[in-house]
Parts: sequence; C-alpha cells; structure tokens
Amino acid sequence: MSKVKEKINRYFDAAFPIILYKVIEEAKAVELLKELAPSRRIIEWSTSECKDTTIPNLDDYTLDNMLSILYEDASLELRNSLLIIKDSVSFIDNPRVIGYLKRLAQMITDGEIEDCTIVIVGQNIKIPDELELYVSIIEDEPLTHEEIGKIIEQFCADYEIIADKQLQYILSNAFKGLCEYDIINILALAYANDGELTESDIDLILEHKRQIVQRTSVLEMVPLKESIHDIGGLNSLKEWITKKEKIFNNIEAAKEFGVDIPKGVLIAGVPGCGKSLSAKAIAHLFKAPLLRLDMGRIMGKYVGESEENMRKAIALSESIAPCVLWIDEIEKALSGVSGEGGNADITNRLLGSFLTWLQEKKSQVFVVMTANKIDKLPPELIRKGRMDEIFFVDLPNQEERTKIFEIHINSRRPKDSASIHLDKLVKQTEGYSGADIEGVVKDAVETAFTNNRSSITTEDIETAISKSYPLKEIMKEQIEAMVKIYKEKKFKSAT
Ligand code: ADP
Repeated sequence: MSKVKEKINRYFDAAFPIILYKVIEEAKAVELLKELAPSRRIIEWSTSECKDTTIPNLDDYTLDNMLSILYEDASLELRNSLLIIKDSVSFIDNPRVIGYLKRLAQMITDGEIEDCTIVIVGQNIKIPDELELYVSIIEDEPLTHEEIGKIIEQFCADYEIIADKQLQYILSNAFKGLCEYDIINILALAYANDGELTESDIDLILEHKRQIVQRTSVLEMVPLKESIHDIGGLNSLKEWITKKEKIFNNIEAAKEFGVDIPKGVLIAGVPGCGKSLSAKAIAHLFKAPLLRLDMGRIMGKYVGESEENMRKAIALSESIAPCVLWIDEIEKALSGVSGEGGNADITNRLLGSFLTWLQEKKSQVFVVMTANKIDKLPPELIRKGRMDEIFFVDLPNQEERTKIFEIHINSRRPKDSASIHLDKLVKQTEGYSGADIEGVVKDAVETAFTNNRSSITTEDIETAISKSYPLKEIMKEQIEAMVKIYKEKKFKSAT
C-alpha cells in the first residue's frame, strides 16, 4: 500500500475531523478516497453540483448552504460518511463556511458524529487560522520512476511508437515531479511535433517545468545554453561533475548499488573565472532544469516571510526535481550571519534551515553554490560533508588561457581562429580572468568590424590587451588573501 493510502487510512481510523488532501489530479484523489472508505456514504461537493441524493431541497449548491443543511438538519445523519469538498479555493474563506466546518469538526472530535471525515481536496488551498487546529494535511506523493516508466510505455504502445529502454529511462527521469495528466500531454505534444519520441523532447519537459517555476517569485529558471565544452580549463572540476552526472542520471541503479544521492558542490574563488558558467554547464550536462535562488528575493519585509520564502523555494525545487538549484554569490546572502541584530538573526535562521535541509536531503536536487569571497563563508557551510566537494577557482594558467581564447575566438570568428597566434596572446595575459579574456576578444572583433575589415588578427587582440588591465592587478590583495585561505582550508583546485 502506498504511503498516502496508509496515511489516509490512519487518519480515518483515528477520527481526524478534517483532512486537507493537496493534489493536482482531483478526480484520481476522489477515486482513491472512495476506495479507502467503501462502506461510507459519500457526499461530494463541487461548485457545479452536490452529489448526494439524500440531501433535500438543495437547489442552491453553495458550499455554506450545503454545510448549513448538513449541520442543522438532524435527520441527515452524517455518521459513517465521507464529505468530500472540491473547488474550495474561493469559498474556504467565507465566515459561514468556516463556522460550519468548525462546528462539524468539533462534533466529530467529541464523538457526537461517529466515523465521519471531511476531506478538502485541491491545490493552493490556504486553510483559515480558525480551522488550523482541526486540519491534518496530506500531500500527494510524486509518481515514482517505475510509475512514470509505465505511463511512457503505455503511451508508446497506444501510438505504436518505438522508444528504446535507455530513452524511456531518460524521459522518466526528466518527467519526475509532474503528474500523469501533464506527462501524457507533453508526450502527446512531442509525438505531434515529429511523430516520434527523442531525447530532444526533454526540452518540452524543461519548458513545462519553467512555466511552473515562473508562477512563483522565489526562484528563476535559467536557460541552458552553455555546455561543459564552453569552459576553458577547470579540468579537475569538469572531471568531477562528469562522474556525478553518471550517478545523477542513473540514480535508481546507483542507489541500488549503494551510492549516495549527490548533494552538491560549492565553487568558490576569483570573480570572472567560470563559476557561474560551471553552474550552467552542470545543469546542461545533467539534462536538468537550473533554478537560481536569488537571496535578495528570499529576504522578505515581514516577520517570518524570509523563512517562508526559503521553505517555498526548497519545496518548489523538490517538487520539480531532478534539478540543479544554484545559489549565486552565497556569501552576500550570508553576510549578516556573523553580525548582530534582526537581520543577522534572520540570516542565521535561514542558514540553519537551509543546512538542515541539505543534510537530510533525499531528493534529487543538486545544489551548486558559487561564492566570490571565501573569507565570508560561515564555517558551518564549508564543514566537510555538507557538500560533496568544495572547489577553488583561481586565475587561469597558461594552458587554461589558451583554451579560453580558443573558445571565445571560435564562438565569434571561427574562420579566423587558425591564423591567430595563441602563444603570443597567452604570454601577454598572465593574471587575466576568463571574463577579461572574453572582453579582449570581444573588443578586437568589434574594432575589426567598425574598421570595415573582413577578419580579425593577432594584432587586433594584442591591441585590445594593451588597453586593458589584468584582474590580478586590480584585485591584487583580495586574490592573494583568497589563495591563502584556499590553501589553509585545503579546498580542491578546480584546475
Ligand atoms: P564568475 O566566476 O564570476 O561566476 P562567470 O562564470 O560568470 O564568472 O564568467 C563570466 C564570463 O566570462 C563567462 O560567461 C564566460 O564567457 C567567461 N569565462 C570565465 N571563465 C571562463 C572559462 N574558464 N572558460 C570560458 N569562458 C570563461
């Protein structure tokens, strides 16, 4: 028996008066409730009807009207019944509805009405404070990998589509967090596009998840353009994430083998050297949505708002997992931790709840934290075991600068790349960050274009270099201090 069924049964047996059953697919939920209470009388209310022939004179179907009849007409025994309320989002706040539900709940609690449960079914229902005491919440369990696999298999059989096991596995993984209705709709859309199912249909799944994320204000879904091949250097980090990808995308087999679910990574170091780029490339490699958590948006104006926002962000990322949750410039968000006063208290509590979640996390949310200032990171965060690994990103070495030049010249002027003397450029850019290198290439391309030339030359880039300053000069002290800390703390080098 599924956990949800067990829980509902337990709540029925223990005579809990009101259950809020949070589901997307109402019809399925109602079926399940009926199955679990086969001998009870079912009274089902929705905006359009009240399904119970024993209620007389019900020409007005409003929820408060039905509840008043049930409450006031003693001849209508509620004993041994299940009162299912659907579509209640707009009605639950009505004072009459609250009043009747409260009185009925009290009667059930006191044993005046035996074997009766009121179940409110639906999504986004905010229970009024007056009823909180009587309400127990049950959330629908997400479909399992196997259940999603069966839906895909059935769809393929119905439409005579050939999809090999590997593809079905990849799609099942990407569909996690969505309900059956959405899965079938997306499969139908993918099939309508080109008459088959392919790995590229994952984009449709990501788009659907993006729309879910867009409805909330706490997270933002970042488009995935950059891949691991767009990162010059950082080979050790790339090797590490490639290994994690094998686990992430074969999670069922990995778990069975005894491998832990990957938690995440902290990438700290010099600005403009590929930390954000790596976060994006990780999600791209994992074929998973990238959700950016903006701490600025999390911090609310009202008491408890920040914690509630953090809870929402975590819940949302878990509900659309597998995904990558990216917390950019985490040190900014946590800058209040060591201070005092109201703000510091909030950040402390936020950090606490975040770390607890990270520690206990069982979902497939891979956390990527990026930080420009490692001296500002609280020790609890960088303690071993919180994340799977902590990487330090330094200014690129010679070999890395060569790769970064190649990437940025190739992305803008692929035709010219063979004639550019990379060795010369690399020698002149000691102490430049990846972003600096991109900057000089951009500058050279722009100059060549505005001078009506048909290609760029090594000299164009050398001129751009001569007009710029390396980051190592601009941020000399900060970078030196950072390198010192990184060595002390024994972070792993991303190079
Ligand atoms: P940060 O480390 O501050 O997060 P970013 O990853 O945002 O820096 O880098 C800014 C831009 O600089 C990137 O979008 C990319 O174009 C370029 N860049 C930085 N590092 C690299 C790198 N190692 N390889 C290729 N491009 C890089």
